[in-house]
Amino acid sequence: MSAVVYHYLRNKCNLNKGIHPIDWFTFNNQIDYLKQKNSTLYLTNDFDEFLESYNLDVNKKKYLITFDDGLKEHFEAAKLLKDKNIKGIFAIIGCTIFEKKIPLVHKLHWLRSILKPYIFRKELENILGRSLNSDGDIVKKAKKMHIHDDEQTATLKYNLNFILDYYELDFATSLIIKNYIDSEELFCKKYFLSIDEIININKMGHEIAWHTNFHIPMTKLNDQEILNDLNLGFDFLNKINKNNKKHLCYPYGRLDAIPLNKMEIISSNFSYGWTLDNIDTKFMTKNIKNMLLQRITTNELFKNIEHLR
Ligand SMILES: [Zn+2]
Repeated sequence: MSAVVYHYLRNKCNLNKGIHPIDWFTFNNQIDYLKQKNSTLYLTNDFDEFLESYNLDVNKKKYLITFDDGLKEHFEAAKLLKDKNIKGIFAIIGCTIFEKKIPLVHKLHWLRSILKPYIFRKELENILGRSLNSDGDIVKKAKKMHIHDDEQTATLKYNLNFILDYYELDFATSLIIKNYIDSEELFCKKYFLSIDEIININKMGHEIAWHTNFHIPMTKLNDQEILNDLNLGFDFLNKINKNNKKHLCYPYGRLDAIPLNKMEIISSNFSYGWTLDNIDTKFMTKNIKNMLLQRITTNELFKNIEHLR
């Protein structure tokens, strides 16, 4: 059992430069392909049962379709899957619902798509009251990491991703974005699923998962913060569907964003965790194994589809 993750589903790419959305035509074809190969889960399949049987028969390669970040277009995707009788998991970021705040990762996507790098940088520096780091070795590292970007963009990205503090950046980007949108609340209304849509998706037979409250890598949170976040998520999921076992999709999902030393805390109220990395769980208990189920991106799946034949 594995899962495939989707983010943006859009036909127009120029709206969000650099985030590589997948278009609806391709999405539809990919889903039809999985269905035709009998390689995905149906709405009527019981997930727990399926996972049990899968553990006994590793040759049964199936891909669960998952969607991260609770984007507005996922409602259309949920309907499309329902029409084909296919089950999906939809992971929601809490702050888009509770605080009506845009998660930092999306403020960054959005600002980077509408502002030239030097303007974005200038606005940031004005608010922070200092220059971003553009030392020789940082620029070198940045260029190595972001090989498709020019030096200016690479250095900015490196500062955003690895140098600036989360809270500082969250504060600064909220100030900057104010000048370009009506309000974060209206932005959330336009770009993220509403609570009614989430409830509706669940009624269609899909699973709703928790993607944490602020989409911060969980390795950056302390025990208490993780506990608070998971309790919030558990209560949220419980209100939507009391009887279901709870799913957690780790933000970013890569090894360095998964708090491997805190699996006991996490598995106390969540039953399934979804990563984006292949983690060796051979010597772990079943509870913990289920918290480290692997997902892959559509690129990873469809560039190598022989194994479905
Ligand atoms: Zn995400």
